[in-house]
Amino acid sequence: MDLSGKVAIITGSARGIGKEIALRLAEAGATVVVSDVADAEPAAEEIRKMGHQSLAVAADVTSASDVAGMVEKVTAEYGRIDILVNNAGIARDQLLMRMSEEDWDAVLNVNLKSVFLCTRAVLRQMVKQRWGRIVSISSIVGIVGNPGQANYASSKAGIIGFTKTIAREVGSRGITVNAIAPGFIVSKMTEQLGEEQKSEMLKRIPLGFLGTPRDVAETVAFLSSEEARYITGQVLGVDGGLGGL
Ligand code: NAP
Repeated sequence: MDLSGKVAIITGSARGIGKEIALRLAEAGATVVVSDVADAEPAAEEIRKMGHQSLAVAADVTSASDVAGMVEKVTAEYGRIDILVNNAGIARDQLLMRMSEEDWDAVLNVNLKSVFLCTRAVLRQMVKQRWGRIVSISSIVGIVGNPGQANYASSKAGIIGFTKTIAREVGSRGITVNAIAPGFIVSKMTEQLGEEQKSEMLKRIPLGFLGTPRDVAETVAFLSSEEARYITGQVLGVDGGLGGL
């Protein structure tokens, strides 16, 4: 997959899965914009040390003015935006009866409103270019639900409806819009689980092991490539078979 000459923005890419996506797209030759609410510079520096162009941009993806500023900065610097990866996300878990309005709003804003704001902000440039790739990180939880995650599951399900709708709106402009639904991915969250919880989890995964951020990043790289030009409006599970066999 060759992404040379492409400019990619990845939200929430200072660490975790987003950072792995940033590194993978850089390996494929893309110029990568590491965007995060804070601390974006170290990941951008790591990419520059790999010999690729990279720009760090501080932006809170729940703020329309931060998002507009990010898009202005990127177009001023590189003159184009080819790939947007909507990755920034948070969880504030609680059973519904105890869930505060504040935790509902926070999760919906960071996980779903951000996808609306960032996608809307890059579309004008992509339409002008007649080429674009939007990839949003949903979750298996958005498809099957999960107790204690009504806010998170709703936000991730919302991403799927958004993806299918925008794919229809911009398909004629050479822009594809897809979502990825990861299952259990090795992360700070899964590292904190006890042995018993982990073995219960593994029993439910047909492939028998947890995914890695790299598994998600490889899928983003594919969906961002020319090779994936005939794929749009799809939700691709990266879950070891957990969700859909
Ligand atoms: P993570 O390690 O917590 O990384 C998320 C990143 O998003 C952090 O760098 C965070 O910055 C940033 N962020 C949070 N709020 C933001 C805001 N308002 N504006 C800009 N950036 C913001 O999470 P992860 O595990 O890598 O997950 C990445 C994505 O994959 C999320 O959308 C998540 O829902 C999804 N996902 C993860 C899993 C999994 O097993 N890990 C499974 C399915 C889906 P700060 O740290 O500074 O807040």
